[in-house]
Amino acid sequence: MIKILMLILLCFVGYSMLQGMINPKPKKEKRGWMSRRQPRSSEGEQMVEDPQCGTFIPLGDAVSANIKGKQHYFCSKKCLKEYKKNHK
Ligand SMILES: [Zn+2]
Repeated sequence: MIKILMLILLCFVGYSMLQGMINPKPKKEKRGWMSRRQPRSSEGEQMVEDPQCGTFIPLGDAVSANIKGKQHYFCSKKCLKEYKKNHK
């Protein structure tokens, strides 16, 4: 009886060890993919400098304007107006 119990225990230990060796890898990859993907969306955004006040704004939030054939990005419409005033 004890021999059978030992065998079952050994099988269980061996099985859980095997599972532990096989399973964590895909889990880690999934987590790594998730954690790698999240910063990418926030850090991956291009930052542009407001030539009027010098602040850096994410391209998606910037006010873009074409002045004298050049694309400029501003933190606000106020800065865009000021810049246009100064570069006439
Ligand atoms: Zn500005």
